[in-house]
Amino acid sequence: MAVVKLDQICKRYGGSGPVAVDHVDVTIGDGEFMVLLGPSGCGKSTTLRMIAGLETISSGTLSIDGRVVNDVAAKDRDIAMVFQSYALYPHMTVADNLAFGLRRRNIDRAEIARRVQDAAGILGLTPLLDRKPHALSGGQRQRVALGRAMVREPMVFLFDEPLSNLDAALRVNTRNELIKQHGRLGSTMIYVTHDQVEAMTMGTRICVMNGGKVAQIGAPLEVYWQPADTFVARFLGSPPMNLLTVRPDGAGRIATDHVSASLERWAPALLASLAGKEATLGVRAEDLHLRADGLGLSPGRICGRVFAVEPLGAETLLAVEIEGGQEWTARLPRDTRADVGQSVDLFFPAEATYLFDAASGKAMKPMETAGVADLRRREAGLVH
Ligand code: ADP
Ligand code: MG
Repeated sequence: MAVVKLDQICKRYGGSGPVAVDHVDVTIGDGEFMVLLGPSGCGKSTTLRMIAGLETISSGTLSIDGRVVNDVAAKDRDIAMVFQSYALYPHMTVADNLAFGLRRRNIDRAEIARRVQDAAGILGLTPLLDRKPHALSGGQRQRVALGRAMVREPMVFLFDEPLSNLDAALRVNTRNELIKQHGRLGSTMIYVTHDQVEAMTMGTRICVMNGGKVAQIGAPLEVYWQPADTFVARFLGSPPMNLLTVRPDGAGRIATDHVSASLERWAPALLASLAGKEATLGVRAEDLHLRADGLGLSPGRICGRVFAVEPLGAETLLAVEIEGGQEWTARLPRDTRADVGQSVDLFFPAEATYLFDAASGKAMKPMETAGVADLRRREAGLVH
């Protein structure tokens, strides 16, 4: 059992430096796989290192299973951390690498042997126990690094970008491996990454960070479908969500030469308050289509000039410039043909529109009648 609770945690390096972590509030449930996601410098590693006890906490309360651990030494927190650079001891065998930390803790030999065998069995390292690190592949080394954390049988595992040194294929393998191990061990895991695909595929929940603050916490698809602000909308999603400054009328209609849309997802009172003011319209790349049929009664339309066509094999990305200079990207079927310089109309269903406050970037909450989640379910044939 291990619930990790961060309550208004702050970190200022050097006591008076800039705030690296700013009032972070998050509770990681027992057995949860929580991903801390955000761009470089947003405070992910600092947060993780405070949980590990490798960095002091400037203010706020950190507790594990209800016990405040702010002042508990790293070695007494029952936490194991796996880093990006997993330095194994090159002159030691896999078995010795796995056992090393336990020997230093004076755990008895039979117990060490049991734990090493268990971890090796789970991680598929049993046939490799006598090898030295140089005779292992990158993925096998990563498994040894994970095994070293596992043999400690910690309450909580922490990972700081453990896959970022691996090549693409190995990263996918190791990612799947970690998901499997999490399922098997059922331990609480906190995983730092700047890679949104890792976050989406591995996390039971994602905590998106921006500038030291929590931008949003939620299940992967919840964060993807209901981003709290334009930062989250663009950080999750590749290509990022398309955005455009618009001025809807009081009835939620947008009508200019290059864009028309009807904002049906928002309450009339909210739309009335926006009349003639700037707001930010958002549409995801996969919700843009070259034809309007099948997109519901009042699809939106945006017109732009093609400046790049990227056939990726499984799909084709079309990058268009909207009047005013904004660039949008559409994710279209693989057989899409278009010429650079050509003018195209792109259509989107009313349910797939997002609206953000122009100044703060915060999402405007739609009425819950129809939303992107409903749209997806309908597309998947789950609801008729
Ligand atoms: P991330 O892991 O998300 O890339 P970090 O937690 O490493 O971000 O860094 C957050 C902020 O704290 C950055 O502005 C970084 O420059 C600063 N920082 C990190 N470590 C130190 C340190 N040891 N001393 C001073 N500033 C630091
Ligand atoms: Mg980092």
